Amino acid sequence: MTTRRKYTVFLTGASSGIGAAIAKLLVAHGHQVFATARRSDALAAVAKDAEKNAGEGGRIITHVMDVLDRAAHAEAVERCTAEFGGMDVTIPNAGLGIFSPLDKAALEDWMTMVDVNIKGVLTTLHLCLPHLIKSQGLVINIGSVASRNVFPNSGVYCATKHAVLALGEAIRQDLKDKVASTTICPGAVDTAFIEQTKDASLLDQYRPGFKKGMQPEFVARQVLNAIDARGHGVVSDITIRPDFL
Ligand code: NDP
Repeated sequence: MTTRRKYTVFLTGASSGIGAAIAKLLVAHGHQVFATARRSDALAAVAKDAEKNAGEGGRIITHVMDVLDRAAHAEAVERCTAEFGGMDVTIPNAGLGIFSPLDKAALEDWMTMVDVNIKGVLTTLHLCLPHLIKSQGLVINIGSVASRNVFPNSGVYCATKHAVLALGEAIRQDLKDKVASTTICPGAVDTAFIEQTKDASLLDQYRPGFKKGMQPEFVARQVLNAIDARGHGVVSDITIRPDFL
C-alpha cells in the first residue's frame, strides 16, 4: 500500500461557508492548510474546529488578509511557504455575489464582484503559481453553475464566474506538465453567500433556494477528491448540483 501524500494548501475565503468546510476537511485528512480571510474571529473559530478533528500531520495556520490588498497578499503567500516549507495546492475561493437586475444595480457592487471574484483570484494565482510550478502542484478554482450559464438578476456575478472557468482552462493549456487545474462548479450551496444581496425582495425570493442547497461539506469533498486524484489523473472540472436544480 502506498502512503498518501500530505499537501500544503493556500486557501482564501476560509472564514465561512465553503472555504471553512474545505479547511476543516483537509486538516482532518492530514493536510496543512494556510487559511486566509478578513475576519479574524471567524478564522479563529474555523481553526479551533479544524484542530479538534485534525488527522495525523494535519495543521492549520490562519492569516488575516484582504484578497484586494496586494502587499498583504504577497506577505501571506511568503508566510505560507516559509512556515510550511512550500505550497502544493492553491484554492482561490474568496468570492461574492450581489444579485440585482442590471438596470437597478449599483456600479460599486459590480466593481466589488469583479475585484474580489476576478482580480482577487488573479492576484492569488499570480503569487502562487511560481510555488506551484516548483512543486508540480494543483490549482482548485471555485467556479459555479454560473460559470457556464447566465441566470436572471446575476449577470455580472455570472460574468465573473465565466472568467474563473476560463482561467482554470488557461492554466491547463499553458502550464501542462507543470501545474494541474481543477474547477469545481457548484449550484446553490447553503452558506451566507446570498446575504450579500441588498434587494430585500430578491433576498426573499432567493434565500429558500440557497437554504435547500447543498451543504458546503459536499463541495469540500470534491476538493479532497481532486487532491486525492494526484498521481492518477486530473479532475479538470466538475459540476455538482442540489437535487432540485
Ligand atoms: P461565504 O459568504 O460564506 O464566504 C465567502 C468567503 O469569501 C468568506 O470567507 C469571506 O471572508 C471571503 N471574502 C470575501 N471578500 C473577501 C476579500 N475582499 N478578501 C478576503 N476574503 C474575502 O460564501 P460561500 O462560501 O458560498 O462562497 C465561497 C465561494 O463559493 C465564492 O467564490 C462563491 O462565488 C462560490 N460559490 C458559492 C455558491 C453558493 O451557492 N454558496 C455556489 C457556487 C459557487 P471574510 O468576509 O472574512 O473576508
